[in-house]
Amino acid sequence: ISSKLPGLEPSIFTVMGQMARKHNAVNLSQGFPDFEPDPQLLSLVENAMRSGYNQYAPMAGIFPLREGISGKIKNLYGHSFDPDTEITVTSGATQAIFTAITAFINPGDEVILIRPAYDCYEPAIVLNGGRVVSVQMKGKDHTIDWDEFRAAISSRTRMVVINTPHNPSGTIFSQSDMQALEKALDQTDILLLSDEVYEHLVFDGNQHESVARYPGLVSRSLICASFGKTFHTTGWKMGYCAAPANLMSEFRKVHEFNVYCVNHPIQHALATYLQDPETYLGLGPLFQEKRDFFLDSIAGSRFRFTPCNGTYFQLLDYSAISEEKDTDFARRLITEFGIASIPISVFNEQQEDHQQLRFCFAKKEETLSRAADILKKI
Ligand code: PMP
Ligand code: GLN
Repeated sequence: ISSKLPGLEPSIFTVMGQMARKHNAVNLSQGFPDFEPDPQLLSLVENAMRSGYNQYAPMAGIFPLREGISGKIKNLYGHSFDPDTEITVTSGATQAIFTAITAFINPGDEVILIRPAYDCYEPAIVLNGGRVVSVQMKGKDHTIDWDEFRAAISSRTRMVVINTPHNPSGTIFSQSDMQALEKALDQTDILLLSDEVYEHLVFDGNQHESVARYPGLVSRSLICASFGKTFHTTGWKMGYCAAPANLMSEFRKVHEFNVYCVNHPIQHALATYLQDPETYLGLGPLFQEKRDFFLDSIAGSRFRFTPCNGTYFQLLDYSAISEEKDTDFARRLITEFGIASIPISVFNEQQEDHQQLRFCFAKKEETLSRAADILKKI
């Protein structure tokens, strides 16, 4: 049978997760917390189910949740999205991203990806007949060469995908990155898909550079976000897309006939929970503490690192330990040492390999300590 995605293998998250289970390894591979969400949030879901919110929700999401999302964005980044016409609640960021790409990408359109790129963008682009144009981040520090970015733009470029804080590198866009992006897209009709699922996980006094802070960008942007990442509920698959009304109306045409609507009781719970800004403002400090605990715990190991600025992922450089490719070394860490990570070359177009592995530190201290004990022996 002919494949629409020839050559596409199961994702690295599936592969490393399966290996981790098989070898009973400490699992710092796939990005999910190993601790429970706030019990208050769980009660809100239970209450919503018992209050009869068990049938279809409105297509774009319940209004109070859309209002809450709009209020949060306005408070944090200063831009007002109209909850009626500019916000749609989705089944995780993944569905928001797929829907945004499907709504706008036609056969032959080019989409610029900054590599390493999270793995759900490319298949969506290819399924819609689009062509990926890659701009590779530079070196172990993963900086962007904006001249190279500008050179990647052509008359066929329809969309650019950015992701800050960035998975897998843990870097964040600076104000000057955003200004360079704004300048590069000025006078074009290129759309911007901004994956901001880690918006609240920014450390060391830095601020999240949402496209919603930049009037010149927000008018061409679709912002995708995830309640799974924000509220330690990756299994709920809840998220949203925010975009100007002319883009959102096209987004909704696809959303309506893809899922129609998403989980109704959870929307009610999130609408109430989101009313208290502390629910998300505390996330930066929480994960910064976890990052520091993890990095302090591996002090003295042979891994080298620069503390990440955002996300819940830390890159560790193993070049002082082995010359193996990152994919080989990551497998050996599971089978020989019992610790699972993610090799990041798989997110690059040419599999560029900087001998760095990604470790998820969204874990309990005991898990991080067990991981550190292993890493210090390698
Ligand atoms: N984008 C990035 C960069 C991610 O790391 C993830 C994984 N959470 C997603 C999108 C997908 O988010 P969700 O689980 O809400 O679909
Ligand atoms: N976003 C998660 C990560 O980067 C993975 C989610 C998935 O397995 N698709 O680890």
